[in-house]
Amino acid sequence: MEEITTDIVVIGLGAFGAAALWRLAERGVNVVGIDRYGLGHHLGSSHGTTRLFRVACQEHPGLAPIARKSRDLLQELGRETGQSLIMTTGCLSVGAPDTPPIAGTKAAAAQAGITLEELDHEELLRRFPQFTGTDQRAVGVIDPEAGVCFPERDVRAQGEAAVRAGARVLADTRVTGLEMLDDGVRVTTPVATVRARQAIVAAGAWNPKLIPGLPLIPRRTPMFWWDPKPGHEAEFAMPDFPAVVHDLPDGRRLWGHGSYDGPEGTWQVKIGMDGEFADFAATDADALDRYIHPREDLGQVSEWVADAFDGIEPMPARTIPCMVTHSPDSQFLIGRPGGDPRLVLAGGDSGHGFKHTAGIGELLAQIALGEDTYTDVAFMNPDRFPEVAMAVAALPFG
Ligand SMILES: Cc1cc2nc3c(=O)[nH]c(=O)nc-3n(C[C@H](O)[C@H](O)[C@H](O)COP(=O)(O)OP(=O)(O)OC[C@H]3O[C@@H](n4cnc5c(N)ncnc54)[C@H](O)[C@@H]3O)c2cc1C
Repeated sequence: MEEITTDIVVIGLGAFGAAALWRLAERGVNVVGIDRYGLGHHLGSSHGTTRLFRVACQEHPGLAPIARKSRDLLQELGRETGQSLIMTTGCLSVGAPDTPPIAGTKAAAAQAGITLEELDHEELLRRFPQFTGTDQRAVGVIDPEAGVCFPERDVRAQGEAAVRAGARVLADTRVTGLEMLDDGVRVTTPVATVRARQAIVAAGAWNPKLIPGLPLIPRRTPMFWWDPKPGHEAEFAMPDFPAVVHDLPDGRRLWGHGSYDGPEGTWQVKIGMDGEFADFAATDADALDRYIHPREDLGQVSEWVADAFDGIEPMPARTIPCMVTHSPDSQFLIGRPGGDPRLVLAGGDSGHGFKHTAGIGELLAQIALGEDTYTDVAFMNPDRFPEVAMAVAALPFG
């Protein structure tokens, strides 16, 4: 059994953890990252080729600076490594004027100084005939800074950049124990014990396994790819069908983007469900059902897509399970629970975290090192839920 001593150990090298490792290693910090699988794997929450990258985030106006920081860092890393880590397409949000995709996006844009393009109903249908048949009240707004990013590629790029900057990565290594010490933490794995002054816990859907009692619920959330009906292929290809968020009149929410075949890669039309009416079962992350059940998995989404888009074949062409880990208020948990100097938590992605990967990684590095953060993080403070500090206080003491 190897004994490793380091300043900071990062547990989980997915979207949040790989970015934290990179941002710390870039500063010359002595840091070790551990992942039960490896960089850019398909078994957690960060797989499936693409993620929407919005900057005017309807989920909270405070997210725009984080998205922009992510974009800047990913673009710089992409330039350095000769790969595309983010692609700007704009994001079209569609819904009635009082729905989150319209009202929330406008509020976030106003706060962030983003000039949205606004489309009334007629202009929406003229520019985007894919939405013919949508409700009369539906209008559109386009966030010009938005686009898509690439989960496996982006995680791998950040993790590899961390290694180049001096970080050590233990891949295929599962953390089996996290103990608090007087002056740090002890992390146990089958091959090594890591002692560090502090841990950043970024284990995604497994966070409640490492810190039992966290108010986080992982849900099995399949991803779906679709074929356009014959004759509609061009309509549902990028850039004519860019990143999209669409609220139907009854509150059902779809998100997605068009197919693409070009320098950034090749992918099909992707459309998924979101919001309170989407039926996603809670799951134990260790027991995620990776089988696709034709009736349960495909029934609801096929009906929603058929209601929204005449030009798409009603059954998905491809489906893969994924996990979203929900917090009680659908916002992330980023910070030091109870101010504990030994631990930083990063989790509760609530289905909108990937775009913020590098920006959150930078914040995690700043929090861990006691630097001023580049933007306000109070709205993500884990202490807004008293259960978090209680769960951390209940961790074993070594
Ligand atoms: C279907 C779907 C669609 C989405 N769409 C979008 C979108 O369009 N835009 C967007 O911004 N976000 C989107 N998201 C959300 C985004 O993907 C997540 O916010 C993000 O991937 C979460 O990253 P994470 O670091 O919390 O988890 P992960 O990336 O899963 O990382 C957690 C890591 O911890 C590791 N780990 C766990 N337990 C242990 C252990 N005991 N020891 C060692 N390692 C461990 C895992 O192997 C994993 O690598 C979507 C999510 C899903 C599921």
